[in-house]
Amino acid sequence: MKKVLSLILAVIMVMTCGIAAAFADGYNAGTYEGVGTGNNGEVKVSVTFSGDQIVSVEVTEHAETPGVSDPAIERIPADIVAQQSLAVDTVSGATNTSNAILTAVADAVAQAGGDVEALRSVEAVTAEKAEQQEETEILVIGGGMAGMAAALEAVQQGAKVTLIEKNAATGGTLAIAGGYLIACDADIFDSANVADSLDDFRKAWEAHMAYSGVESGYPDWERWESVVGDTGKTVDWLSESGVTFEEAPYMGFDGGAYPVAKHVKAGAGMAAQMVEMLEKAGVDVRTETKAIELVTDESGKVIGAVAETKDATITFTAKAVILATGGISQNEELVSQYSPKIHQAGVVSGAASGSTGDGLLMAEKVGAEVFDSFFSALWNAKVAPEVSKAIDASKLTTAAQLGVNSKALRFASESAVVYKRGEDSAAVAGSYVDGLASDMIQDGNAPFYYIYDASNDEVTAVLEQGVEAGVVYKADTIEALAEEIGVDAAALKETYDAYNALCEAGEDSQFGKAADNMVALTDAPFYAVQWTPTTFGSTGGVKTDLQQRVLKADGSVISGLYAAGEMSNRYFYNENYMLGASLGLYATCGRRAGAAAVEDCVK
Ligand SMILES: Cc1cc2nc3c(=O)[nH]c(=O)nc-3n(C[C@H](O)[C@H](O)[C@H](O)COP(=O)(O)OP(=O)(O)OC[C@H]3O[C@@H](n4cnc5c(N)ncnc54)[C@H](O)[C@@H]3O)c2cc1C
Repeated sequence: MKKVLSLILAVIMVMTCGIAAAFADGYNAGTYEGVGTGNNGEVKVSVTFSGDQIVSVEVTEHAETPGVSDPAIERIPADIVAQQSLAVDTVSGATNTSNAILTAVADAVAQAGGDVEALRSVEAVTAEKAEQQEETEILVIGGGMAGMAAALEAVQQGAKVTLIEKNAATGGTLAIAGGYLIACDADIFDSANVADSLDDFRKAWEAHMAYSGVESGYPDWERWESVVGDTGKTVDWLSESGVTFEEAPYMGFDGGAYPVAKHVKAGAGMAAQMVEMLEKAGVDVRTETKAIELVTDESGKVIGAVAETKDATITFTAKAVILATGGISQNEELVSQYSPKIHQAGVVSGAASGSTGDGLLMAEKVGAEVFDSFFSALWNAKVAPEVSKAIDASKLTTAAQLGVNSKALRFASESAVVYKRGEDSAAVAGSYVDGLASDMIQDGNAPFYYIYDASNDEVTAVLEQGVEAGVVYKADTIEALAEEIGVDAAALKETYDAYNALCEAGEDSQFGKAADNMVALTDAPFYAVQWTPTTFGSTGGVKTDLQQRVLKADGSVISGLYAAGEMSNRYFYNENYMLGASLGLYATCGRRAGAAAVEDCVK
């Protein structure tokens, strides 16, 4: 847990003394510490009370994601003090951080002898929403990589640009991403003498796509060549526009099979830098402004969009609208509709909270053709969410670990998730991840468990915490453990014996795990922890032409409407994802959308 660099002190004069008197039963004056749990661990607050008021709230420690959580850390303490309430609105895109602060303050209120329930029922007074009309030339909906690239290109081409983002912070998934951008044939790589031709990229891509879904008909290699071929130009353009990449290409992916540019401050740094650049270039960036529907004229041309803010409903009139609202990963209903395979495997997504398919639904309503098969950018496997909430799963790093699926069969090298991948070659480890992910999403293979013994004291201590919390299974024998997790006992014993025999032999002839990682499980009791596949985002969206103009089912263009990013990315993948491949692609598509929108509709 890191100490907060700039403590946010919300000491606001209370305008609403009446509320405090009416709803709180008074406090024992003083300063109290409270604790809540956010996305990345404990959030601590210090709260000062007078006899009848919350005087100040200060977030003193947290490990929440910078950028994404900042608006909540600034606003929630201020709102609690101003409204003398624990029923303040959470911040869009930072709901968990908001709730962690509210829980921590409730903890302090209880210690101060206050009435938590009364404070939770203080209703905020909401004014009626104003109806507003605004005009712009290019309206970009969504402030992630694709949207920001589109806005940057459009403003550089001289258009008046408004970018609306529904969350309190721009960045979308970029703000939590590694910040690696594929860059084919980029000038910035010239001095590094690396293999960055389209051919080199294609070989690496084809190898990855071979793991599963080869029958899907994707990638669309013509489209792929056009866009991937431009990724180097995009990185050079971003670099010239002010984005600070590291000097040398980062070569770590897939044993260095393709080079990527890396932002000096990762995705969060790039997101912050991009929005600053946009504002400096004159883009009107509006956060907490959620598009709810597209507006068309009688010919079906898109001429704007309606958006909601806290205080107003705004109808934006625009010459063109660019949809860059990301994917569907955080909308369970849409995932089950478009990616049933992903849904049945219990996949958890790491994509940003805004990935709820809003743009897809809006585009569909104006006649856009949606891909019928979506997929998800599979990434790796993680412990199930309820487990990671209860224990520190990063400490489960032992080689004595056996992974099984619902049929009690070992299904991949456990190295892919044991964090000991360094001992395998990068290329092999990379393929393990793809192989593992592919296997995990096949019908009937979920749920997945990792089995541990009690040979490592540190790991056992963490597992015992999980048992205590009711999220880790424990039994004295492998057969009894099988009963606990609901798999066939004889099958699990057979898999366990076979795995231990491979460990004895010192060679994983089944999945090629490195010999150092082949450690037998021998010491009872045994434990089982559930794991799930995870995704970076979704692949699907609406169909577009090469300039990102949105198409109808008959192949004609919906005039005035463009889409980029996870809004329209099915073209590039089958059922596998290329690590570090999205941002470069989506920035390229976003840039194309911005250029085409200005060319078609403004000039
Ligand atoms: C942990 C992690 C690390 C990653 N690292 C990398 C990496 O290093 N390299 C790489 O290439 N890829 C990486 N990826 C994948 C990549 O970051 C995403 O695929 C990419 O950022 C998606 O960009 P996007 O612009 O299409 O969508 P998003 O980033 O999802 O942006 C869409 C934006 O639109 C907003 N929005 C949605 N609906 C509305 C609405 N109705 N009105 C207004 N705004 C709306 C959302 O809030 C969001 O801000 C990573 C993914 C994850 C999860």
